[in-house]
Amino acid sequence: MKTTILRATKGRIYTSKTKYQLMDKTLYACNYVYNHMLERNQKVYKRRGEHLSYYEMQNLLPVMKQYKPWLKEADSQALKYACRQVDTAYRKFFKHEAAFPRYHSRKQRLTYTTTNTANIKVLDGAIKLPIIGTVKVHGLKPLPENAKLCYATVSKETDGKYYISVTYKHEIEVNEPLINADMFIGLDYKSDGLFVNSDGSCPKMPHYLRESQAKMIKAQKKLSKKYGNLKGQKKSSGWIKQHRKLTKIQKKIANQREDYLHKLSKQMASQYSGIAVEDINMRSLSNKGFGNGKATLDNGFGEFRRQLEYKLSVQGKPFVKVDRFFASSQICSCCGYQNTEIKDLSIRKWECPKCHTQHDRDYNAAINIRNEGLKMLAKSKAA
Ligand SMILES: [Zn+2]
Repeated sequence: MKTTILRATKGRIYTSKTKYQLMDKTLYACNYVYNHMLERNQKVYKRRGEHLSYYEMQNLLPVMKQYKPWLKEADSQALKYACRQVDTAYRKFFKHEAAFPRYHSRKQRLTYTTTNTANIKVLDGAIKLPIIGTVKVHGLKPLPENAKLCYATVSKETDGKYYISVTYKHEIEVNEPLINADMFIGLDYKSDGLFVNSDGSCPKMPHYLRESQAKMIKAQKKLSKKYGNLKGQKKSSGWIKQHRKLTKIQKKIANQREDYLHKLSKQMASQYSGIAVEDINMRSLSNKGFGNGKATLDNGFGEFRRQLEYKLSVQGKPFVKVDRFFASSQICSCCGYQNTEIKDLSIRKWECPKCHTQHDRDYNAAINIRNEGLKMLAKSKAA
């Protein structure tokens, strides 16, 4: 059985001042186009509750280039892509998957994406990009032979470093999945951790991450005491210095967490024969009644699910999303009785009124997700 997967490889760019400046031109132009289109869209939204389509925005670009000639020096495919990003941001907002689109500050991380694949070439330790030419890159993996380039994204981090990420399609041969029910598990999302496994285990956050987080909180406190932290105050040199320290710690935590999630998903994807999760919308969850919106977006479960999905799929193993309306936490995993009394999220432990089994809310839900996942797999096999 053949399947097409989407993969990406990333590396850091090292090049001349002139070429960095060339990249900056497109980075700033895309940032400008993004914000400009957002502004236009906000007017349209206020007037008629709609947004401009990608094509409407793209058609505005030639006129914009006439009164902002510097836009002509940027990668034109990247400018179109910025329009597409505005379009996507609005579509997600209308589907309640994301917050209302916001302006992108030039001081934040900047990115541009070029889809001009005919002019992108991944070389040994370097990449050729449209407009920019060839630049040295560290860490980019060579593409597989039959890979088909999709796009490349240049990013400039707040610390001034430049990176390139190349996304490609790749067809691979996988075995017809064999479902081994013993090694099939379900995961229930846990707001103050990552998940509970249907085998009863739940991953512990590594202590180095906890240590870094303690450091970050300390650095944040220190920053809040520096002159320049209040609105209207001019940033003092002490504030700027402390802010730089804080950004460095935050970056380190982000890297450590990404590393940790990748290791865990890799290990689980090889250990188990298949995994079921709930098809929940992480963003709407963070906004509804949990009272811990930040934790939901931060703990990385959404990213973790994405990693599991592709790591399982390259091995031909099933990743099953159970319907979000499936009452995973209310059903007794022993006798199947549905207990609507425990809708309240604060109830962590309960006893089944029918078979009197004692349940831990998350563990019981994980078992139900696993069983429902197996059921769905059997159904799709029969069909
Ligand atoms: Zn029961």
